[in-house]
Amino acid sequence: MLIRFPPKYRSPADLPHLQRNGLQWTVSHAFRNSPFYRDRMEAAGVRPEDIRSMDDLSRLPFTTAEDLRDGYPFPLLSVDSREIVRVHSSSGTTGKRKILCYTQKDIDDWLCMFARCYEMAGLSREDRVQICVGYGLWTAGAGFQLGAEKFGAMAIPSGPGNLDLQCTFLLDLQTTVICCTASMGLLLAEEVHARGIRDRLSLRKVILGAERVSDAMIATIRDLLGVKEVYDIPGLTEVYGPGTGLSCRHESGIHYWADYYILELLDPDTLEPVAPGEVGEMVYTTLGKEAAPLIRYRSRDLTRLIGGECPCGCILPRHDRILGRSDDMIVFRGVNIYPGQVDEVLSRVGGAGSEYQAHFERREDGKDHMILKVERAGAVGESAEDAMAREIASGIKHNLMVSCQVEILPYGSLPRSERKTRRVFDSRSY
Ligand code: ZN
Repeated sequence: MLIRFPPKYRSPADLPHLQRNGLQWTVSHAFRNSPFYRDRMEAAGVRPEDIRSMDDLSRLPFTTAEDLRDGYPFPLLSVDSREIVRVHSSSGTTGKRKILCYTQKDIDDWLCMFARCYEMAGLSREDRVQICVGYGLWTAGAGFQLGAEKFGAMAIPSGPGNLDLQCTFLLDLQTTVICCTASMGLLLAEEVHARGIRDRLSLRKVILGAERVSDAMIATIRDLLGVKEVYDIPGLTEVYGPGTGLSCRHESGIHYWADYYILELLDPDTLEPVAPGEVGEMVYTTLGKEAAPLIRYRSRDLTRLIGGECPCGCILPRHDRILGRSDDMIVFRGVNIYPGQVDEVLSRVGGAGSEYQAHFERREDGKDHMILKVERAGAVGESAEDAMAREIASGIKHNLMVSCQVEILPYGSLPRSERKTRRVFDSRSY
């Protein structure tokens, strides 16, 4: 089905061979050209010639976000600086920014990966793609835009926020595809609904990226905008940027570009592979990245692999949506909780909206309490609240093994944001 930007292998049986070649290239390139990687590998007692099969991947040392910060301003640099044609940066929550550099080949590879996302989402050259994400140092704007141009669709770089401009362009330019964060998608959908302009739009698809997204949020956005297809695009600056895969139109998970990187799912504590289908930390090794190659980079993102053949027929492997980050994980009464689990429970409760906040507090009795504030969906009345609260509390108890108090709020009462919405509030002192 992917014709213009197909996988670089013919059948799943060919993938290990392709990945092994890429792994050998990356390890040898990094060892020869990066003092950082050479030191790490020597400390681990492994040399490029030791990497003979995919099993040898586990002999390689890990790379972390701290390594990127320590190497500021050009961490993991493995080429002459004259080869660098661009840098991007992701905002760190603490300390120095992470800066990643790109050669021209890195940029070209990224754009092919991104163009493949548009192809998989079923776009054509007729499409008009309104890109409502941040530009500049952040990778999102450049990725979505240059990917659209590479693919051959019309890019409309409207940037984030500015709902008035967004609605004007949706109408005047008859945009067919919107790309944004899930939070921005919700804001825009509610604005389109409030203005009553839905039926005058030509929107067909929404591509959501850069933020964890729940089924309930997708349902609200789909409803209010009147679009048929909503896609989820994962990615991180360290692995080029957004566009490392795309959710399948059969809603059977996210196909990821295993011909550009190896994805391991490891237990964040033991760093051993998790059992098939279990949740683990996404650890990346790139196969052809020149300027800042990644070897076993710990992303802290959590997901699970999805095995078997996809009903769409695509041979690229699949992982589930991002379920949270291992450093967002909350320890509550001895149980590990990550926000994606709350999303999963809420998406199965009829009448629950997409917006919620989870508050963790320690009361005077010394006990920890979890309070879940959940909005009702738009069309649901107050009379449904009690039953909904009971169903949510029982779903949390059943799936997360903890008790919580549930408060149902009217639709629209929790704050919206143009970037990423904060959902977890932990006021306990440790
Ligand atoms: Zn599929």
